[in-house]
Amino acid sequence: MPLPFHCPCCGYPGLTAPPYQNLPAPPWGDLGEPPYIARFGAASFEGCDCCGYEFGFDCDAAACGTPRSFQAYRAAWLQTGAPWFSSCRPKPTDWNLARQLVAAGLAASGLR
Ligand SMILES: [Zn+2]
Repeated sequence: MPLPFHCPCCGYPGLTAPPYQNLPAPPWGDLGEPPYIARFGAASFEGCDCCGYEFGFDCDAAACGTPRSFQAYRAAWLQTGAPWFSSCRPKPTDWNLARQLVAAGLAASGLR
């Protein structure tokens, strides 16, 4: 049973908390450039099990040095074959990346 919070970077519906307090629900399309905390509110600092994006860290210059947009991170992740990130929580057996990206409205920007 998927959890209700989706990753705005890859669309994975398995986050345990909202990634940003005021982020609207998907589908999203282009969410623009960081800093996301300024636009979407406080971050969960959870790392996505699927793509590894850490909300509040990867988007924050003070934390990571070079903030990356969801699109840029996703493009790089897809280019390396979209490896499952978490070593603690295994990839769902019915995981379907294309379906996940489409459902979250991210396919167009992620697969170009
Ligand atoms: Zn993700």
